[in-house]
Amino acid sequence: MTRNIPPIDGERFWNTLMASAEIGKGTRGGLARLTLSESDGQMRDLFRSWVEADGYSVTVDRLGNTFVRRGGIDNDLPPVLVGSHLDTQAAGGRFDGILGVMAGLEILRALDDAGIATRRSIEVVNWTNEEGGRFPPPMLCSGVFAGIHDLDWALTRTDQAGITVAQALDSIGWAGDVPVGGRDLDSYFEIHIEQGPALWEAGVPLGIVVAPYLARGMRIEVTGENAHSGPTPMARRRNALVGAASVALAVNRIGHAYADREGKSTVARLEASPNIPGIISDRATLFVDFRSPDPKLTAEMEERIRASLPDCAAETNTEIAVGDSWTFGETSFDPDLINLVRRSADDLGVPYREMMSQAGHDAYHLARITPTVLLFTPCDDGISHNEAENTRLEDQLPGLQVLFSAVLARANR
Ligand SMILES: [Zn+2]
Repeated sequence: MTRNIPPIDGERFWNTLMASAEIGKGTRGGLARLTLSESDGQMRDLFRSWVEADGYSVTVDRLGNTFVRRGGIDNDLPPVLVGSHLDTQAAGGRFDGILGVMAGLEILRALDDAGIATRRSIEVVNWTNEEGGRFPPPMLCSGVFAGIHDLDWALTRTDQAGITVAQALDSIGWAGDVPVGGRDLDSYFEIHIEQGPALWEAGVPLGIVVAPYLARGMRIEVTGENAHSGPTPMARRRNALVGAASVALAVNRIGHAYADREGKSTVARLEASPNIPGIISDRATLFVDFRSPDPKLTAEMEERIRASLPDCAAETNTEIAVGDSWTFGETSFDPDLINLVRRSADDLGVPYREMMSQAGHDAYHLARITPTVLLFTPCDDGISHNEAENTRLEDQLPGLQVLFSAVLARANR
């Protein structure tokens, strides 16, 4: 283990985060940089200009996943991959995902400063559409990379305006020509703010994620019939919006029923059509998800909502069906990498806590195809997916140094 890792330039690292915070600003101090939007394109362009100026090579795959490579001594060996995502939610923070990409970049730069050659190449990745806020589901493009979703399926996902992923990639000039995935990797490291309050409340600078929560998400489609909101008798109404509301409450009740065992349920999005005053909705779509630390509980929660749908439909005189569904968090993180991170933290005297991840991350998908580890750092009061998301350099540096030490050890393996 290298106790003497080369110094990280904290100010340079922080400046990359603050430069990012200027692109796609939200109205309340955070970011509104939805994936493949104009501002996402500007951020990508800026990032590429930085890394090309530093002399790294850049490859972009057909989904816009971007890989920045610092070559190793033996370039035939599979590289160590480090990264996260530069997109944000519509009302997102300045650190969620961005921290992990900029941490990777700072590692490359610190190695250059110190004139250190690593045995393996190190690549920094920006995954397209981690958030899924514009194109559900989340972690879409790391999912294709890991062979979980089909490329064509991903390219044809649409946003609320009917624009496809393929069209959005073209419109910002970030559709690359490299095939998605199918590459040998040595390992994948991701550092991310915790997005919950555990580290913040404990005053601990690092979380080593030992396992993910299993999450099951699904799209639920409700079908009713358009009718006038005045003369239509109550008994004849088939209001899809009301059917969706019934499902939303059922989903919420399930979360509360499992809350004592850390179960959680979310209705995150509801679209109704035509969504106009005076007309009863003929269609509604909900996006819901269930998660818990125990895969069996997550499955039970999902079964309960599926079993409730006929009642919701009967009560509201609608038809209700499950559309797409998705899973993440099935695969756990790599014990050797977890040990390596523990040893790095011990060596550097950085206190840490071992924990489970409740939020989805690209690392979940990467864990399917390569040894993967996920590190958490604190964010103020655990606030995230909120423009008020905040942290400071001194709260991030210990985690960044542990990441650097572990990546360096792995790259010299
Ligand atoms: Zn994130």
